[in-house]
Amino acid sequence: MPSRDGAIARARTFFDTSFRDRLAELVAIPSTSQDAGHDGDLRRYLEQAIRPWLERMGFASITIHPNPCPGFGPILTAERMESAGRPTVLTYGHGDTVRGLEDQWSAGLDPWTLTDEGDVWYGRGTADNKGQHALNLAALQAVLDERGGQLGFNLKLVLETAEERGSAGLREFVAHHRDALAADVLIASDGPRVAPKVPTIATGTRGIFVFDLAIELRPGGVHSGHWGGLTTDPAIVLAHAIASICDRRGKILVRDWLPANGVPASVRDVLDGCPVGGGGEAATIDPDWGEPGLTAAEKIYGWNSFIVLAMLSGRPENPVNAVAPNARARCHIRYTVDTDPTGFEPALRRHLDAHGFEAVRIEHAGVGMAASRTDPAHPWSAGRSPAWSSRSASGHKSSRTPRAGCRATCSWTISACRWSGCRTATMAASSTGRTSTSSRASAARASRRSPGCGGISGKAGFPVTPNAPSTDPSRHGRRRPTIYGFFSVHSRKS
Ligand SMILES: [Zn+2]
Repeated sequence: MPSRDGAIARARTFFDTSFRDRLAELVAIPSTSQDAGHDGDLRRYLEQAIRPWLERMGFASITIHPNPCPGFGPILTAERMESAGRPTVLTYGHGDTVRGLEDQWSAGLDPWTLTDEGDVWYGRGTADNKGQHALNLAALQAVLDERGGQLGFNLKLVLETAEERGSAGLREFVAHHRDALAADVLIASDGPRVAPKVPTIATGTRGIFVFDLAIELRPGGVHSGHWGGLTTDPAIVLAHAIASICDRRGKILVRDWLPANGVPASVRDVLDGCPVGGGGEAATIDPDWGEPGLTAAEKIYGWNSFIVLAMLSGRPENPVNAVAPNARARCHIRYTVDTDPTGFEPALRRHLDAHGFEAVRIEHAGVGMAASRTDPAHPWSAGRSPAWSSRSASGHKSSRTPRAGCRATCSWTISACRWSGCRTATMAASSTGRTSTSSRASAARASRRSPGCGGISGKAGFPVTPNAPSTDPSRHGRRRPTIYGFFSVHSRKS
């Protein structure tokens, strides 16, 4: 008699016996999209590593499409249809990685060789995103085996290879294949968890609004001995302009940038008790930083933040005795759906003018990534689906957050599906390959050991995998639930 427990047991067995070898095969293909000369590896990943696996699972219509943007990696689609009356899941992953940076890894480590060290697995793509989509396929196989070759739902797959270059072409691709990709739910395995050991359900993502602040006062630098104290210093003006935007403790002073009605009650509700932090990055949560009165979770999941990404005046690497001619800062706002980004630039202009910074220009302003959120009360989020499944499979209470942001070991993302192919609002469940991060220390060690964590898409940052094939049975509950996402799909229906 097939059972959910039986499927979970199969998944556990696979994880303990075969998953590492499967992952090692995937990691061995140097499918970075960020270095030139790997076009063949991107295609090989889809053609040789993924296609045969999908064929064994009974997928049909496996197609590797050219990217609609010339010069970017191909996109694989496949589908496994059981019955028109059953729900259809659309799932996503990416086979490309950030650049290998082969010469910068610690001794004994290589980006394209999955290597055990202590309780950590190292290898490029292990935690982003080969581990994730491999886990999902393994979970699906476990369900198939348990249910005699039936999932109980239809499945469509999109696996791209340009994610680390900003998913170039993906938007055009899914728009063009809108009907073919139509689904009831999107399960996108490329997202964060709120803390390394907390199964997470998120319901969307904060957006990014980017802009430059620029001040240009004269054609060139002028001698500081002659002009210092007489002529305006653009670096100092820019520093004051930034200080007028955000106070000493990170509170945004351009109040028109912020959600007019505060954090919505439904969002506050799901964030109540939500842990924040971890993930092994070299940062602290500073309680006095950011909007006063909000919890840490509300600050990053339910509120907007302003960040100065880079700023420059003169030549710091080779300073001369001059009052600089200009200064520039690249900034962005991380914003929730509770604010309209079309208002950001006009509000900033009004603010700068009102504070005497007419000379500071706003340049290159625009939405870099749109915000999204599915109502936390949506059945996929609140019902007996992923939350229930995640909790019961892992033994951990899951956390729900209304947006996604950083790392995940075992993470579910429920978000409004902005993919044009989806028929309804949707869910994205995310399960990263960092399935067994054992400690912050190991994660920190991993990020030190593997260079180049960031992807140019801005959502990367999982270069290596603190992915521990631990022999400590007490850890098993943490590393396994990642692969159970699909059980919730069928359990909801049956
Ligand atoms: Zn990724």
